[in-house]
Amino acid sequence: MKPAASESAGWANSKPPLLRFLDRCYLDFSPDTAGAVADYIPELGKADPEHFGIGLATLDGHVYEVGDTKIPFTIQSMSKPFVFALALDTLGAGRVESAIGVEPSGDPFNSIRLNAENHPFNPMVNAGAIACSGLIHEAKGSAAFEYIRQALGRFAGRELGVDEAVYASESATGDRNRAIGYLLRTNAVLKDNVASVLEVYFRQCAILVTARDTAIMAATLANRGVNPVTGEQVMTPYAISRTLSVMTSSGMYDYAGEWIYRVGIPAKSGVGGGILAALPARLGLGSYSPRLDKHGNSVRGIKVCEALSSHYDLHMLNRSDDARNSIIADYTIAKNPSRRAAGRASRRSSPRIIRTFASSNSWARCRSPTSTMCRG
Ligand code: GLU
Repeated sequence: MKPAASESAGWANSKPPLLRFLDRCYLDFSPDTAGAVADYIPELGKADPEHFGIGLATLDGHVYEVGDTKIPFTIQSMSKPFVFALALDTLGAGRVESAIGVEPSGDPFNSIRLNAENHPFNPMVNAGAIACSGLIHEAKGSAAFEYIRQALGRFAGRELGVDEAVYASESATGDRNRAIGYLLRTNAVLKDNVASVLEVYFRQCAILVTARDTAIMAATLANRGVNPVTGEQVMTPYAISRTLSVMTSSGMYDYAGEWIYRVGIPAKSGVGGGILAALPARLGLGSYSPRLDKHGNSVRGIKVCEALSSHYDLHMLNRSDDARNSIIADYTIAKNPSRRAAGRASRRSSPRIIRTFASSNSWARCRSPTSTMCRG
């Protein structure tokens, strides 16, 4: 039997607020048909422009989803942050940072230009991303792509496949990226065979994900490298924080400055229509809608992120949390005792160190330096 109107409204209101917010975004932004599906890789042009999915993963492992969150699409440039993190953890920061810069380029993502040291400007533009794939190839040889695919799967919490048609289409038309590869090789940034490295890069761009996957991948970035759904520590906090840094400065093509000014959440988009946004210690958002604006960013995806940031006041530089919680983390119990803790401390031979912030995972539970849940 169909529920009465008042009953169904009651049910809608009983949905979690985050889900109601995502529903609202879906309804409000679905009618927006601005932008165009990328077709410079011919196979990408076949995407259904109407598809629209939004996933949001919180750090306690909840995933909220609306719309086409199970439709697979190619990750494209959203692979770049993950492969950069992987390169940092695989080859060491010294090796990676000596080959690839971290400055915004101010150029389009596929610009054939290097910095004054003849290195890529940063790992979020094609030159830097191809250099990252080259570093993984240097370390893993012919197993490089599989190594990347598995690492991305750990971020998503499941095995990820490849769209062979998109891969073949990009490989057949990717001469601009080959030109970048040869430029990198002549400047000794790439040490291996250019064709082999480019095949790794093209394949990594053709890895298939969904909006749900990208929400979880983003939440893993937001959670210092721990996948909040599987609990696995996927990358080191060092690699994650540096990855979020370059996403902040260079993640959204030549809209990156505007983006961080207006939205204030580290993010990366891809020409397949995906955007992932990772707000440290809070959440990961993944959206999919293939129509792109003139910068190459998904039109509806941008709107979702803007709405999320403004509705929940999430700009990362507009935080009001008590600095004592996160900065003054250690103190000796003997100098700052609660009555119960002081009693325990006096029974010990040396003063005990209290760490109020064992990790940022405990953030939400740890609002006060005296909270017992935060003691390690
Ligand atoms: N595979 C694409 C390329 O290199 C990725 C572009 C993107 O998503 O920005 O052209």
